[in-house]
Amino acid sequence: MTILPISFEFSAPKTEAAASGLRRAHDRLNRFKHEFVSVTYGAGGSTRDGTMDTVIALSQEGASAAPHLSFGGDNSETIGELLTAYRDAGIRRIVALRGDRQSGLGTPKIVHASELVRFIRDTTGDWFHIEVAAYPEIHPESKSVSSEIAFFKEKVDAGANGAITQYFYSAEAYFRFLEESAKAHIRIPIVPGIMPITNLTGLQRFSQICGADLPRWLVKRLEDFDDDDALKDFGAEVVTRLCEQLIQGGAPALHFYTLNQSKPSARILDNLGF
Ligand code: FAD
Repeated sequence: MTILPISFEFSAPKTEAAASGLRRAHDRLNRFKHEFVSVTYGAGGSTRDGTMDTVIALSQEGASAAPHLSFGGDNSETIGELLTAYRDAGIRRIVALRGDRQSGLGTPKIVHASELVRFIRDTTGDWFHIEVAAYPEIHPESKSVSSEIAFFKEKVDAGANGAITQYFYSAEAYFRFLEESAKAHIRIPIVPGIMPITNLTGLQRFSQICGADLPRWLVKRLEDFDDDDALKDFGAEVVTRLCEQLIQGGAPALHFYTLNQSKPSARILDNLGF
């Protein structure tokens, strides 16, 4: 099996205990020699400090660490200050997003990811390698595949260097998205986001929010397990097979959504012989 570059995504911790858990998971995943790790940014900037502290701590331990960032309800001055702080700390990569909407805060002005990419380029030039999000199964708010691709291209034209996809369990959706992107002259690497399967209820809830499709055959089989370990075995087998298809089909790298746990991603990577 071809060995590809890999990256791991961690959720920004909100407590000391969560921060220690994240560092433990990172330590255990370190043996896979990742290209970079990224740390999410809570909706509306709710984890501004947690994201920055984690990214800087991981970077000081030698990891190439990338913060996720979105405007949320913030103004250019606040975002500019954050960018300066990251640059001063030697951070070279950023995942630029519109961000999830924060419940209970009304509807702040939407700042699309393309505007953030443009802002980063305007204020910091080429300092940061910028990743953006992509949606092989189409973002839930998109009107059509063609508008999805057009707005994706806007992020690329604004200066994105790479994209990481929302997770999916249909390799065909990913490969079709690559073809559609290529037709639109999008030439940046589009890295599949990999979500390990460890729990059906959580996965269903999360997939509903982010618009990821859970195939009926998969849900039906997961529903049949009353033993957690057996479900995890099956989930690891399904996602390993998905990764094999992605690697054979030419995916440029793999990005794992760890949810701050090491075992599920490690198991898949071990299965793949990484
Ligand atoms: P955009 O690219 O702005 O697109 C959002 C929607 O608007 C799409 O339907 C798009 O087609 C449309 N659109 C884009 N530009 C325009 C325009 N100019 N006019 C009209 N419509 C437009 N969320 C968080 O809150 N924190 C995180 O840390 C985080 N990390 C993520 C990491 C990855 C790899 C991925 C895939 C998603 C992540 N998300 C995160 C979720 C993301 O914020 C949501 O999916 C959000 O709804 C869209 O973000 P975006 O950057 O793709 O937005």
